[in-house]
Amino acid sequence: MVFHKTDVLIVGSGPAGSTTARFAAAKGLSVTMIERRPEVGVPVRCGEFLPSSEEIGDMFPKAADLESLFEVPGDLRLRELEGIRLVDPKMRSTLLDFSGYTTDRDRFDKHLVSLAEKEGAELITDCLFKRIEDGRAVTALGDIQYKVVVGADGPGSRVARSLGLPANRMPYPAVTAQAKGDFDPCIVMFFGGVAPGAYGWIIPKKGQANVGVGFSPRFASGSLSGYFDSFAGRHGLETMGRTEGKFVPSEGPISETVSGNGMVVGDAAGHVISVNGGGIPTAMIAGRICGSVAGDHILNGRPLNDYQREWRDIMLKPLKKAVFNKKLADTFAFGSDARTAICMRMLGGRRMGKLIRCRSIFP
Ligand SMILES: Cc1cc2nc3c(=O)[nH]c(=O)nc-3n(C[C@H](O)[C@H](O)[C@H](O)COP(=O)(O)OP(=O)(O)OC[C@H]3O[C@@H](n4cnc5c(N)ncnc54)[C@H](O)[C@@H]3O)c2cc1C
Repeated sequence: MVFHKTDVLIVGSGPAGSTTARFAAAKGLSVTMIERRPEVGVPVRCGEFLPSSEEIGDMFPKAADLESLFEVPGDLRLRELEGIRLVDPKMRSTLLDFSGYTTDRDRFDKHLVSLAEKEGAELITDCLFKRIEDGRAVTALGDIQYKVVVGADGPGSRVARSLGLPANRMPYPAVTAQAKGDFDPCIVMFFGGVAPGAYGWIIPKKGQANVGVGFSPRFASGSLSGYFDSFAGRHGLETMGRTEGKFVPSEGPISETVSGNGMVVGDAAGHVISVNGGGIPTAMIAGRICGSVAGDHILNGRPLNDYQREWRDIMLKPLKKAVFNKKLADTFAFGSDARTAICMRMLGGRRMGKLIRCRSIFP
């Protein structure tokens, strides 16, 4: 039974979906986002850190007009942060300059949806996408007819599967919670056995911090909740509310992101910086291209492959560099606390700064 018709159907209302919707709707087309959750952005499963536009531009120099894409109301910039403190297993730390801010991710996602709605896009919540059948999207509420479908449905994308696109390989599990207290204005990342193959974090907000751990299934032997509890215990973190977990793509972009009249974007496409798991900026940069190309495709036949060509031109090189750097860390630094400590000491602040910014660490 067809219950809805639209030009562009977007599955998922995270940063990738809402940004795609905003730029497709700006072309004057009918655009529908569907979201399986009852409320956008809830629960929060994120570290809630956004790099400044300058830092994003530094990582992706070919990305244009970042100020306007990443402009957010002042009340969404909860705390300006000045740097990243990297702590090795011996608790020796290195402070790197890095500017950005923390936000409330649920309110941030709602803000991005409101920008899409202002352009005319509509959102249907409580609407689980199941599969594509006979060119229609089968959802929990009935079938949806569309001209272009976009999978912005996160790391385990059902849309990608339905379109015959590759899955994200080796996603890393990660959990997060809020902790009470006053913290210095910098991100702290803890490496070693506390979060094997990844890191534990404290990201300050106002009067509290977002805290969490992620790990690589290749190096971890315990459960995620076990690592989180031991991390929180070791640092005396007084957590509030539930811990929430999710997977993070760790191997960079999937090899194809367009198939027939469908595209995937954001985590669904592996648009994540694999050295640190950050994916909001990349989801939004790719979402802007995706929405614009979807609109032009319907209006004047522009090939959907232009989306893939454009995001690759802007993001592929830095994202691949991040994958390469993470593989170096997997090979030489992770697996034992002693090795992690030695490698971090050998790299020093300058090279670790390059690593965080998706650059070559040698020479
Ligand atoms: C613990 C953790 C901490 C993180 N911290 C940071 C950070 O501090 N900074 C940063 O930049 N990145 C961070 N990331 C990564 C970041 O959260 C993601 O890269 C980003 O959310 C990607 O946006 P997206 O829109 O592609 O996917 P998502 O934000 O995951 O949105 C996907 C949406 O699709 C919906 N959906 C999924 N399946 C269906 C379906 N079948 N039908 C309908 N709807 C569906 C979901 O409910 C969800 O709302 C973190 C990730 C994790 C797990």
